[in-house]
Amino acid sequence: MIYRFKGRPFEKLISGRTNKQFGMFDRNGEYLTNDTEIAERIVAVGRYDYVKKEDPFEVKEEVEEEEVLEEVKEVTNKRTCKKCGEEFENQGLLLQHYKTEHPKK
Ligand SMILES: [Zn+2]
Repeated sequence: MIYRFKGRPFEKLISGRTNKQFGMFDRNGEYLTNDTEIAERIVAVGRYDYVKKEDPFEVKEEVEEEEVLEEVKEVTNKRTCKKCGEEFENQGLLLQHYKTEHPKK
């Protein structure tokens, strides 16, 4: 989840507890964070308007993971003999094929 806070441009966000700056609004007066702990502290201040939305990066990661899984599946499903181009369902069958069809001299 991404929190987008609205403040003044370049306004500093200072922790009331430690008195240390932990963030700053950008030139558009926006501050984005996906750190829920930080976001809730800013919300607690009650001075800033904010909107919550789905984190596009989280969604993107999921998609990428799926793509990788599919790639792995493809690789594990079919094995191609580098010498004659014949396809095999798995590595074991390919190795067997190598032994019988292309024995090492
Ligand atoms: Zn072969």
